[in-house]
Amino acid sequence: MAHPAHEDTIELVKEIFRSYLKEGNQRQTPERFMVLEEIYRADGHFDADDIFFRMQDGGTRVSRATVYNTLDLLVECGLVQRQQFGKSQYYYERAYAYQQHDHIICNECGHVLEFCDPRIGEIQDLIGKIHGMDIESHSLHFYGKCRDTEACAHRKANSGKKDLVK
Ligand SMILES: [Zn+2]
Ligand SMILES: [Zn+2]
Repeated sequence: MAHPAHEDTIELVKEIFRSYLKEGNQRQTPERFMVLEEIYRADGHFDADDIFFRMQDGGTRVSRATVYNTLDLLVECGLVQRQQFGKSQYYYERAYAYQQHDHIICNECGHVLEFCDPRIGEIQDLIGKIHGMDIESHSLHFYGKCRDTEACAHRKANSGKKDLVK
């Protein structure tokens, strides 16, 4: 599930994004492609600022506004999925060549775990059958608390630090 995308996938999604921008008469700036690549080379879920800070740490000069508007474009063209877990901010993850999965979110520290259980697919099919619908996708989030309270408290403290930087 959570592994960086394959090189071929990265080339392919860049191609998809290129034609999407071209069709919409949007500028094909290198920064936009760097945001796309950053997401596909990373693991898991991040908010817009995670991406911004990581690119900055990696020495990429990109403005926060560019990160935000590129994310909107990537969501529009279906290459990136936007999720909201609870009341928190939006999280982004890659959507292309990425296995269907569901999420468990910690209410304390906001930690997001992914899991994949084929039984959920079976429930989806069964519900579709009962209600006479062809179900195409679903979104399922479980909410709870980390059992590892130490790691949880640590994550909670660190997410506070990130807020101060803003
Ligand atoms: Zn996910
Ligand atoms: Zn936690």
